[in-house]
Amino acid sequence: MFGRRSDAARPEKLFMSEHHGFMKALKCRECGREYPLTATHVCEFDFGPLEVAYDYDRIKKSLTRAAIESRPKTMWRYRELLPIAGEPTVGRQVGFTPLIKADRLAKALGIRELYVKNDAVNYPTLSFKDRVVSVALSRSKELGFDTVACASTGNLANSVAANAASAGLKSYVFIPSDLEQGKILNSLIYGANVIGIKGHYDEVNRLCAEIAGKFGWAFVNVNMRPYYAEGSKSMAYEIAEQLGWRLPQHTIVPMASGSLLTKIHKGYQELTKLGLVANSETHIHGAQATGCSPISVAQKAGLDFFKPVKPDTIAKSLAIGTPADGFYALKVMRDTNGAADDVTDDEIRDAIKLLAETEGIFAETAGGVTVGVAKKLIACGKIPKDSSAVICVTGNGLKTLDAVNGYCGKPREIKPSLREFEALLAQEEKVNA
Ligand SMILES: *Cc1c(COP(=O)(O)O)cnc(C)c1O
Ligand SMILES: [Zn+2]
Repeated sequence: MFGRRSDAARPEKLFMSEHHGFMKALKCRECGREYPLTATHVCEFDFGPLEVAYDYDRIKKSLTRAAIESRPKTMWRYRELLPIAGEPTVGRQVGFTPLIKADRLAKALGIRELYVKNDAVNYPTLSFKDRVVSVALSRSKELGFDTVACASTGNLANSVAANAASAGLKSYVFIPSDLEQGKILNSLIYGANVIGIKGHYDEVNRLCAEIAGKFGWAFVNVNMRPYYAEGSKSMAYEIAEQLGWRLPQHTIVPMASGSLLTKIHKGYQELTKLGLVANSETHIHGAQATGCSPISVAQKAGLDFFKPVKPDTIAKSLAIGTPADGFYALKVMRDTNGAADDVTDDEIRDAIKLLAETEGIFAETAGGVTVGVAKKLIACGKIPKDSSAVICVTGNGLKTLDAVNGYCGKPREIKPSLREFEALLAQEEKVNA
């Protein structure tokens, strides 16, 4: 059954009879009503979020392990499970980031086996947002949009700006005006229209919902959200394939809106349903910053609902006080016997340094949140010491230098003289003796 379309003029082409790839419809998460595959994101009956539904019987026939392994090493090797009708046209090189066996970090955290899924080196803008944006922009082009936009905590703005530039699309990115300098410059450089809003992300988001209704643009995380969010599943597919086609026992995921966490779970479930991995127990854990922890606070209290907060944390990429998918993230953690926790700004900095010093990976604040929470969950036994876990590192430290500036010591300066260098070493030996 298809719902009534709103009257607002929208540029998308409505070709109900044409092919939609492996997508069947948009479907309400609450009541299951189906909607056409247009730029729309809420159910008109109960305001439930819409999600892409697929034809898994057809997918099963073409998406075998052998087929996947024969394709280029990008997220598009799982193309049947991503919500576009034709071939990808934006971000064709995105994904298939390294899964690092992190033995030195494992030792430091006291766990038997540990991996880092390193989206700090995702192409082209060094965060996991390149996954969701390549899907959203490819789909936006299919629907006939020429202007794309987003409400962002930073990384999404960077990725929309860069990918829109390379696709020749016009872009508007809306950010809280107090973001890190690195995140702002990394949007401006691509020639995007960058609009700083004097307010929190939640206020930026509310404004964008109004703008999206009025201007007929493809807002990747508003009216295009059902397609956009599906891009996150590719991280789960890659983790499972890189582990040799199996699910990890534990996955630790940073949470802003909570979308990535729910989609990693959906990705694992789909692989199981398609017979690409064996059915096995897998626990999904959520990580937040204490200064913006509506989901982890609710999880620790055993609640099904979160209470909105006003963010105050150095982890600005995760600073969403009213997380759109918080309710569903709590459900995933309940269903998988996962846990959540949060870490302070000091713990975030310590964890960024720990990851850098043990594995040579410089993560942004969100990576510090995930590593810091993994440490806590292992220490308290919610992730058992004799188990195996994957930590999702989702962004690059070069974009949040402000967060660690002044916390890493300073270079020791000497004149270009061998004597001075030897004197410096001798002094150090004395200090260390
Ligand atoms: C956006 C973002 C996330 C998580 O986002 P969700 O809204 O929970 O999907 C995690 N890490 C980084 C670095 C991000 O930019
Ligand atoms: Zn509904």
